[in-house]
Amino acid sequence: MSERPKDVPFRDGPRDECGVFGVYAPGRDVARLAYFGLYALQHRGQESTGIATCEGGHITTLRELGLVSQVFDEEKLRALSGDMAIGHVRYSTTGGGAWENAQPVWRDDGRELALAHNGNLTNAVELYKELTEAGIKLRGTSDSEIIAALLSKRAGEGNDWIEDAVAEVMPRLQGAFSTVVMTKHAVVAFRDPNGVRPLALGKIKPADGQDECFVVASESCAFDIIGAKLIREVQPGELVSLTEGGLVMKQVTKADRPAHCVFEHIYFSRPDTRLENRVLQQVRGRMGELLAEEAPVEADLVISVPDSGNPAANGFARASGLPKDDGLIKNRYVQRTFIQPGQELRKHGLRMKFNPLPEIVAGKRIVVVDDSIVRGNTTRQIISMLRDAGAKEVHLRISSPPIRHPCHYGVDMSTREEMIAHDRSEQEVADELGADSLAYLSIEAVYEAVGTPRERHCEACFTGDYPLGDPEAANGKFALEDIAVVPAAR
Ligand code: SF4
Repeated sequence: MSERPKDVPFRDGPRDECGVFGVYAPGRDVARLAYFGLYALQHRGQESTGIATCEGGHITTLRELGLVSQVFDEEKLRALSGDMAIGHVRYSTTGGGAWENAQPVWRDDGRELALAHNGNLTNAVELYKELTEAGIKLRGTSDSEIIAALLSKRAGEGNDWIEDAVAEVMPRLQGAFSTVVMTKHAVVAFRDPNGVRPLALGKIKPADGQDECFVVASESCAFDIIGAKLIREVQPGELVSLTEGGLVMKQVTKADRPAHCVFEHIYFSRPDTRLENRVLQQVRGRMGELLAEEAPVEADLVISVPDSGNPAANGFARASGLPKDDGLIKNRYVQRTFIQPGQELRKHGLRMKFNPLPEIVAGKRIVVVDDSIVRGNTTRQIISMLRDAGAKEVHLRISSPPIRHPCHYGVDMSTREEMIAHDRSEQEVADELGADSLAYLSIEAVYEAVGTPRERHCEACFTGDYPLGDPEAANGKFALEDIAVVPAAR
């Protein structure tokens, strides 16, 4: 079996997945639009990034390990000219974090294309074997390259061949896929029939003399930064094509029910993103209000685990009438570091990310509000630091239900055994973390805040009820490395 790579220090929450972006806007600086779109989506993946552009029928791709701001500079963006662009930020979920798996993927197995994908194929192993047995060489070990190869090898006539290719390939893909593809003629976006991962469609100001132009992105926050306007979400099973002729929309497949990831509303997507017509800052604030109603506590002060716990902590304070203050200060500039702290600094561990203020918390009964707990290592250290800073009591309130099951649809969650709530009661988790009390938000209250019916969502990591087939059939993160013809670095 493959081993997981060593953990990124001080990351304990569920790992974001990936972010995708696409734009068709002749006459505009499409590489710069993609850069800023990806910059807004950076929270969805920090391992690697890339942009592909197309000019005069020639596709250029630049992808690298690192953050958007580290990988691209003026010179590189200038080299990426064109009428259209797609981009990607990655956190690996199938296939390791090696350069070979960075996106956009470029393929030419008959038709040239570049592709960026957010999600996880649950039948990746089967498709990988099929392709390699047919003599198709895959350079990386990501499920995204499988989609690219399946589309690229499909011969077709006309500039809109990709629309037929997507219609043919889509029913063969199982799992979650919000995807953007660029050919020499179009940017095409499509979303799996259950719509697990988000994908939004927007409109952007065209260059002078040009017709209206369109953009697609994982989240609407990527539109705000480039002056684009959200039109609507790409529907589950839908294809939208951004071309010279304008916008083409086709319903390609349909599932029995949608299965939108409810965790996008709780944590993954940015608070300024709009999902199902609601801005998530308000949705999360409502979760905090409902948490205060469901699990009130006698206390002196509410603090959040910044930044992701902020909206729920605001809501908790509003509904409980308790004051709120910043008892934990976050180092805003913390990024992945490859420098090990060494033995002496290691004991200060989490202080690189959070620093508690004794002046705010000492002598007080504190309510700490956070959005979720996976392993609990960070939470345990936060509670310990607050006690060291003089907090009299520490009560933990979590604005989601306990996470007890892994995600097979594009999120790198811990294995079941690593999840602190997997086989423990609330009281046992509280004891394990050293909290005076602990309460989670009920799943019913989550949906009251989200405002859409429960049956439209995936909630498998909370309930174990997997909406897309047999979870045991899903592949592990390194399933393709284990069978790879060309082994990629992990
Ligand atoms: S298992 Fe959890 S994180 Fe994964 S798609 Fe379902 S709700 Fe989202």
